[in-house]
Amino acid sequence: MRAPKAPFRVFEPIAGLAKGLWVTLRSMFEKPVTTQYPEQKKPVKPRFRGRHVLKRYENGLEKCIGCALCAAACPADAIFVESSENSDAIRFSPGERYASAYEINMLRCIYCGFCEDACPTEAIVLGDQYELSFTDRKQAIYPKDMLLEAVAGSHLLTPQKTEPGMFTRSVPEMKDPSD
Ligand code: SF4
Ligand code: SF4
Repeated sequence: MRAPKAPFRVFEPIAGLAKGLWVTLRSMFEKPVTTQYPEQKKPVKPRFRGRHVLKRYENGLEKCIGCALCAAACPADAIFVESSENSDAIRFSPGERYASAYEINMLRCIYCGFCEDACPTEAIVLGDQYELSFTDRKQAIYPKDMLLEAVAGSHLLTPQKTEPGMFTRSVPEMKDPSD
């Protein structure tokens, strides 16, 4: 592009200034976009990765089987899992084992979702909660009872007493193994 001739160059800053003022003037008459948070909350995007949730089956049993694959996959070393044995009299999850301790350090987590991908039972899910606040480093470590999905009734709480031989598989049958 050819540069404007010398007498016209003097108008260049004025034109730039006028353009900037026009943007300011125009925005003064636009409807303000204000969300009255926390009363109003904007819905998050479908692929949003928020605070983790430990999921349950419909019968209330916990999906987590304490295998610690999520902890192994975590690049930030944010997950701690300790597992124990189930029995039919005191059952937390299907199969042999359950997570007797499960903790996530939210100060370390980078919300990469690797834990979700590594889980064989789809027990750990990054949900849509983004309201995380703590005033102490210890409060940033979320224990299992904070992460576990809420239940609709006390009969769905864990541990449960189950029929012998009913829940022998740790990993549920998959409809589509290639999924
Ligand atoms: S989202 Fe990533 S960093 Fe956070 S706990 Fe899971 S694997 Fe670790
Ligand atoms: S959340 Fe999934 S990967 Fe992690 S211990 Fe539980 S079952 Fe294993």
